[in-house]
Amino acid sequence: MASDREEKKELGITVSKEENFSEWFSQVVFKAELADIRYGLQGFVVHREWGMLILRRIYEMLEKKVEKDGHLPVLFPIAIPKHFFEKEKGHVEGFAPEVFWVTKAGDDDLAEPFALRPTSETAFYSMYSLWIRSWKDLPFKRYQSRICVYRYEHTTRPFLRGREFLFFETHDAFRTHEEALEQIKRDMHILKEVAEKKLFIPFIFFRRPKWDKFAGAEDTYAADTVMPDGKVSQIGSTHDLGQRFSKAFDVTFKDKDGKDKYAYITCFGPGIWRMMAALIAIHGDDKGLVLPSSVAPYHAVIIPIYFKGKEEIVDEVATSLKGKLESAGFRVILDDDKEKTAGYKFYKWELYGVPVRIEIGPKDVERNTVVLVRRADGDRVVVSQDEVEKALKEQLLRNDEVIKERSARYHVIHEAKTLEEVKELAVKGGFIKAPFCGMGEEAESCADRLQEMTTLKVRGVPLDSEEKPSEDDRCIICGKKAKVIVYLAKAY
Ligand SMILES: [Zn+2]
Repeated sequence: MASDREEKKELGITVSKEENFSEWFSQVVFKAELADIRYGLQGFVVHREWGMLILRRIYEMLEKKVEKDGHLPVLFPIAIPKHFFEKEKGHVEGFAPEVFWVTKAGDDDLAEPFALRPTSETAFYSMYSLWIRSWKDLPFKRYQSRICVYRYEHTTRPFLRGREFLFFETHDAFRTHEEALEQIKRDMHILKEVAEKKLFIPFIFFRRPKWDKFAGAEDTYAADTVMPDGKVSQIGSTHDLGQRFSKAFDVTFKDKDGKDKYAYITCFGPGIWRMMAALIAIHGDDKGLVLPSSVAPYHAVIIPIYFKGKEEIVDEVATSLKGKLESAGFRVILDDDKEKTAGYKFYKWELYGVPVRIEIGPKDVERNTVVLVRRADGDRVVVSQDEVEKALKEQLLRNDEVIKERSARYHVIHEAKTLEEVKELAVKGGFIKAPFCGMGEEAESCADRLQEMTTLKVRGVPLDSEEKPSEDDRCIICGKKAKVIVYLAKAY
């Protein structure tokens, strides 16, 4: 049998997040039982227990928000017939290199191959053309949740890029373009409510440059967060599809004036995996996960401290505390495993990121006290057992505050006016604001050159930004008069 020390070592993270973020991330994902990459098929991971309990909470929050916004749930087949896919030219061109095709069943070649959905626009709108009849049916808002999509990616990592990954999508049809654009704003608000307010992931919403929009979209709006290695990760996006897909799929409605018109469509995809990756990466520390109370599978773990002959009485008080906290609405686990030491358990539940540890020993039983320890900063308080509910509530709030305060530390925005300055700042990570010659096709070659030279990408213009270039500002690449201030970053 392994000694307690050896077990702890096996459990613990062996590298520091600051020194080797990539290895740290892999270890947390594996050791905290979020996902296992040993399934044996590249890009296909097994989502494990602790990860699923967290992911389920993220899904629940999103489902609640979109339903409040008027969406109803549907579930579409994973199979998308080839001819659906080919209806929208920009879409098929954009996705073609990433699609997995099923061409055979048994010994038979299929008459028509089908795709494993890489996303579901073509599936949804083929049915919308049958379901939507009149302006009275609009807006028509549906979503599907807790599904996977499939993309043929070359480099894969759990929660960052997979050949199979978790997905959530809404697809909405409107009478007018104005209403569609209003929806885009509501989509962004929903992402803010979940990612920023509940998960404490700071991000910027960008309008993407024309060359980087979703395949088949008129415009793409996407949220980027900065990861601890300085690279940015897109945690969600919403797209103005205009009438492109409604024309391709014949999504029409009889308007008030009796004329048949094409609907305006938007679609929204909060990045479930990417939010999970940001949650792990931004809040975690050298001991493992640090979870906000909104998604923590347990708010608190009760760990009895056993001394010979006092086990029973400690267990009795611990069990009654658990009952008391559960009736007050908290999610609590009691770790009364007699085979493991208290130290081992501290280590384990820290790795799992449980927000508050509640320690109770024989002395506490005598004094009617209990010890609460916050995961985020290790702060301890001793309180009366009679006040444990109030104390836990306070410690959870404080733990969340600490996570939120710290979350801003990677979210840096540098400023540059020249390519030289951009190159110097690029090593620091985060965003770099710089003058550029445009966001349309005219500027695409400058974006390509920038990426070749620096690996930086143009992420776009922040939506709430009023910032205009000054008279003297020149595009950092071509030197022409700048039309916009764009944000640059290295990206996942
Ligand atoms: Zn330029």
